Amino acid sequence: MKIKKIDSSNINSVDFENLNFGAVFSDHMFTCDYVDGKWINPEIIPYQPISVSPASRVFHYGQACFEGMKAFKDDNNDVWLFRPTENYNRIIKSSVRLAMPKFPEELFFEGLNTLLKMDAQWIKPGIGNSLYIRPFIFASEGSINATEACEYKFMIICAPASSYYSDDVKVKIEKSFSRAAKGGVGYAKAAGNYAAQFYPTSLAIDEGYQQIIWTDSSTHQYIEEAGTMNLFFRIEDKLLTAPTSDSILDGITRKSLIQIAKDKGIDVEVRPIKVDELIDAANSGTLIEIFGSGTAVVVLPIVGFGFENKKFDLPKVENSWASILKNELNGIQYNLIDDPYNWTVKI
Ligand SMILES: *Cc1c(COP(=O)(O)O)cnc(C)c1O
Repeated sequence: MKIKKIDSSNINSVDFENLNFGAVFSDHMFTCDYVDGKWINPEIIPYQPISVSPASRVFHYGQACFEGMKAFKDDNNDVWLFRPTENYNRIIKSSVRLAMPKFPEELFFEGLNTLLKMDAQWIKPGIGNSLYIRPFIFASEGSINATEACEYKFMIICAPASSYYSDDVKVKIEKSFSRAAKGGVGYAKAAGNYAAQFYPTSLAIDEGYQQIIWTDSSTHQYIEEAGTMNLFFRIEDKLLTAPTSDSILDGITRKSLIQIAKDKGIDVEVRPIKVDELIDAANSGTLIEIFGSGTAVVVLPIVGFGFENKKFDLPKVENSWASILKNELNGIQYNLIDDPYNWTVKI
């Protein structure tokens, strides 16, 4: 692997107290090309614009997918990844669905680990601080023939992050638009899945919500997930979450929270959840919490939701399951507590 270091770091120009998440990147990036059936030219170079053909198929047919993961720093300045092999396996799953070549596992981790070592000063210690890692693959071949491309680029870029949403989050249960269909690409982190959400989400924002809860595309009766989060519902003494499917993304945070909750003695039920059940529970006062889960937000409490023309507010709860689970997961991620699951990997 070729390495070209930046002349002088950009880190001093970044205000870590007021981070504009997603707009600031660390000093270096990893890139690798797929040409003639082989991954070639792996290198780490200073973060910079790239040059591609305007006919690159990614611009015309959306052949692209990505991952989202985080690096955490503990008080000894050691850097940790959380279940990174799960991210690797998922980008392979996404790549296969989008007819893209599989990026080799060894090269993925060699590139990632080298990049994190070079940019380690961008990872700030303290809960909430992390380096968000964005691996992605796109069709770079300059030809607008509507078939899968023969040339691709794999890249990893990194953005420093502090806590994600701060305001109270309310969500709209969507009945008209759909995020993902049976047999579609909902389970993949396919770029186009997100583009298709922006318009319905902007309408929801106009109505006073921040995000959408998607329902199944054929009946709109079953809860699926939110924009980039899986969902959990605390109803009476149970924690409910929908099973993953071809229209629900198999979140790593989701499955980690399920495991932690079970080990804390919480009664977790993974089963289809009807919108009606949620409305009934909200009306009868048995719906206690809703929260989203994902790498970016970790655990995001949701304070209210809307369905058709009705709005529902959730009560404030002491010792919420959202906060208990978030603390435990963060504790493991930041190496503050024992990791009985062997989820964390030291860089
Ligand atoms: C990334 C993502 C999630 C969360 O997955 P994590 O592995 O927990 O980060 C959930 N839903 C969608 C649609 C996503 O893109």
